[in-house]
Amino acid sequence: MSTVDWQGKHLTVAGLGVSGIPAARALHERGAVVTVVNDGEDERARAQAAELEALGITVRLGDGATLPPSTELVVTAPGWQPDKPLFLAAAEAGVDIWGDVELAWRLRGTNGRKAAPWLAVTGTNGKTTTVRMLASILEAAGLRTAAVGNIGVSLLDAVLGEQEYDVLAVELSSYQLHWAPSLRAHSAAVLNLAPDHLDWHGSMEAYAADKGRVYEGNTVACVYNAADPATEDLVREADVEEGCRAIGFTLGTPGPSQLGVVDGILVDRAFVANRQKQAQELAEVSDVNPPAPHNIANALAAAALARAFGVEPAAVRDGLRNFRPDAHRIEHVADIGDVAYVDDSKATNTHATEASLAAYDSIVWIAGGLAKGATFDELVTGAAKRLRGVVLMGADRALIREALTRHAPEVPVVDLDRTDTGAMSEAVEHAARLARPGDTVLLAPACASMDMFTNYNKRGEAFADAVRARAETSA
Ligand code: ADP
Repeated sequence: MSTVDWQGKHLTVAGLGVSGIPAARALHERGAVVTVVNDGEDERARAQAAELEALGITVRLGDGATLPPSTELVVTAPGWQPDKPLFLAAAEAGVDIWGDVELAWRLRGTNGRKAAPWLAVTGTNGKTTTVRMLASILEAAGLRTAAVGNIGVSLLDAVLGEQEYDVLAVELSSYQLHWAPSLRAHSAAVLNLAPDHLDWHGSMEAYAADKGRVYEGNTVACVYNAADPATEDLVREADVEEGCRAIGFTLGTPGPSQLGVVDGILVDRAFVANRQKQAQELAEVSDVNPPAPHNIANALAAAALARAFGVEPAAVRDGLRNFRPDAHRIEHVADIGDVAYVDDSKATNTHATEASLAAYDSIVWIAGGLAKGATFDELVTGAAKRLRGVVLMGADRALIREALTRHAPEVPVVDLDRTDTGAMSEAVEHAARLARPGDTVLLAPACASMDMFTNYNKRGEAFADAVRARAETSA
């Protein structure tokens, strides 16, 4: 659909918010007749509605269920669940539904600027980190780029903004992929696949199928995780352009058409002249920040996408060296005595926590919160030998405690039942008491934070504040 096609079209935008508002504006500017529907009608929604209405956009608050008559296309916020009445009504009326990513994909190149190719990243965990690493590598290669998508800058802003890009590093959630039927990335990676958001997708199969859409129509490389066969299956099932290759990444020695690790060096056996005989050195493991196993996997995935785009090895190394991880992702807060304090508040599910527990030898683990239906037996079994002690907090802590009783009965556990703002300080205090020199006190909750905190950022900040306060008193 080109710009001209929007003129006079009746469009319904589902959901005010970070993607809905810019979408409504962009479509209105292109001559469409836009109606925004939104479930909530709180003060914030009313203020946002007033701004849009001043532009001539219709906003219906408190009714996100009814499809306005004469709607020709629905543009939805990615989080809206597919079984909502609005979407069922649209399907019945034969009206297409696009998400924010689909809209950005269709609008790219319509503002007189070049349509930059997309290097896309999805997966259950590691997306933000990998996309930022990728953008850092592309920058080091002298390319005009940005990390966009389900991350800081919205795709629509990147696609329609003033700035011209050579290539975009795009993070895509499973929700966004669900609503993006015509997206065709230059190359894409699925980092890993573990059960998450199953309430939204309905089943693991549906979740995997939505993630797998990222490979559809790739032109150069479909990057998969050799340690996670489900990701390779998705490549096999994808319909790609002629000549597009399957490229694996592994923490072990890479085979042909893979990137991997040999003697502490990240090497490429995919984008070389002779992949049977040749391996190209890219960077050292110590160039990866932090060099925890799962993060090396992220670095390899980012490197694979960059190499698929033609980036030279030296830029991979420089980009990885320049990369600084985002807050609350295995963030080293302080050393007190000989004990390291690490904030991985972003580990909100068991798959992420498994990765961060695997990164340390002897751990005092702070965990708990909202389990979102997860079970903890596998996680605890895998980590039992490395646990010095555990401090539990939050609504579903009993689930973790029971798993510990079953699989690690000898590990001391402190169970905190307070949920006030001082709870994290007490957790840190208990953890410090349990820790021995050389240990790591790791906040990796394996749970969502909303039972006690506004979000995972606030939880991480509470941890870091408590650690710093402790560091000061013990200095
Ligand atoms: P996402 O954007 O997918 O949520 P992030 O890069 O923000 O991913 O990382 C979220 C959390 O997932 C991190 O705090 C870390 O605990 C964990 N994590 C990061 N990369 C991986 C990976 N490759 N495999 C498993 N867990 C990971």
